[in-house]
Amino acid sequence: MRSLFQSTLLQLALFAGVGLVVGYELSSIWAGLALAAVIYIAIMLLNFRRVSDWLLLGARVEIPVANTFWTTIMDQISRIIRKLEVENSALKADVDFFKDSFEALDSAVVVIDERGEIDWANVAAQALLGVAIARDKGELLVNLIRAPEFISYLDSGDFSKPLKLHSPVDPKLSLEIQATPFRHEYVLIFVRDVSDLAHLESIRQDFIANVSHELRTPLTVITGYLDIIKGRDEQMPPAMLRVVDQMLEQSQRMDSMVNDLIWLSRLETLPEGQKTELIPLAGLIFGLIEEVRVSAPEKVVSFKLDQVAEGSSSDSVATSNKDLAVPAVESSVAIRGNYDELRAAFSNLLQNAIKYTAVDGCIEIIGAWQWDGFRLKFKDNGIGIDPVHLPRLTERFYRVDDSRTSSTGGTGLGLAIVKHVLIRHQAELHVSSREGHGSSFTCVFPAHLVTK
Ligand code: ADP
Repeated sequence: MRSLFQSTLLQLALFAGVGLVVGYELSSIWAGLALAAVIYIAIMLLNFRRVSDWLLLGARVEIPVANTFWTTIMDQISRIIRKLEVENSALKADVDFFKDSFEALDSAVVVIDERGEIDWANVAAQALLGVAIARDKGELLVNLIRAPEFISYLDSGDFSKPLKLHSPVDPKLSLEIQATPFRHEYVLIFVRDVSDLAHLESIRQDFIANVSHELRTPLTVITGYLDIIKGRDEQMPPAMLRVVDQMLEQSQRMDSMVNDLIWLSRLETLPEGQKTELIPLAGLIFGLIEEVRVSAPEKVVSFKLDQVAEGSSSDSVATSNKDLAVPAVESSVAIRGNYDELRAAFSNLLQNAIKYTAVDGCIEIIGAWQWDGFRLKFKDNGIGIDPVHLPRLTERFYRVDDSRTSSTGGTGLGLAIVKHVLIRHQAELHVSSREGHGSSFTCVFPAHLVTK
């Protein structure tokens, strides 16, 4: 660059020298210099125009100027352009590679921008979603997939879990949709055909539902006869009486298991949001405590409900099973949901707290508003659970230890029912526990489902 600068200075000096000579001949040095400057500027302008035309042609034709200053600059521009072209074609090859791999997928891939308009889609998107990129580019995706659950899935911006949906093209196809935002303004929507899995799942659900229903009648008969036999215990030898007691206990346990299985399959198969109503919480909990007062009178169950803000104690209702005779304080806190389902869930949590506490156990039920919604906590001072078991606690038939369950007559299905009910109410179950120190099972409901 330095030699370019020097040669340009030399050129300028040459022009100035010629201008001085011509000026001397014309007896006006300034006129000679001015003439030289005008000619120099005109040559510069002409070269500048050639360079500009050359650039407009994409710098592909031969360099049109034989002047060191301009040729050096144009050379450098040419080199930069060639380098960019090489980089661009490598980038294009990479993009083509990824596009081809997306095209080869059986699953649909659709990219939408921040306005929800379709930016790109692969071939499978046509078969699964009815999105043809050649026709639908720039179209709003929600105009093509109008299912309300899909629209609210996209609107929510919470893509932590996939969405299950029937295909808008063929309702027999079950789809699993997973959205992933990228580069701030785009969302990649990945759609898998899970019809085979959904079919297997429905066979499994039907099987469990049918078996449970089929088992119900023989079990009722067996339990009924055992009850009759036990009613005549004075005619029976003591050893036989023990056998009948055990048979009765086991058949009652099987009966609860079948009932829980029927509950679970109902929760899995019935669509969400059926028979929802606004359920006054205090009334529901008081009802459950009343039952406990009869079945486990020795345990203390207290209930406290903060009605307004986080931690507020001034505006709350409180009672315990020992003073239920006092009329319940009015409370306006109500949960929007299915009464039977929520009752079953809360009843399971309360029954567990009763089952897994000592004779003089204390159970607190606390309802309070928190930053993440409304929390209903069932806290006991019972035997507690080793934290290693917590992640698997809501699995069907998962038991912390069999001796516990058989001594309490548990089925191992209660918490699975609780989890399903809460999922159907957009709520979550949080469990914390320490062995020997008691447990807390907290249902967290989204604020919009609970009225103050
Ligand atoms: P179960 O009918 O056996 O009680 P659940 O699904 O309700 O089945 O509970 C699963 C397991 O979790 C139980 O077997 C028990 O060991 C443990 N568990 C549940 N609730 C409590 C609790 N409040 N305190 C201690 N252990 C509990």
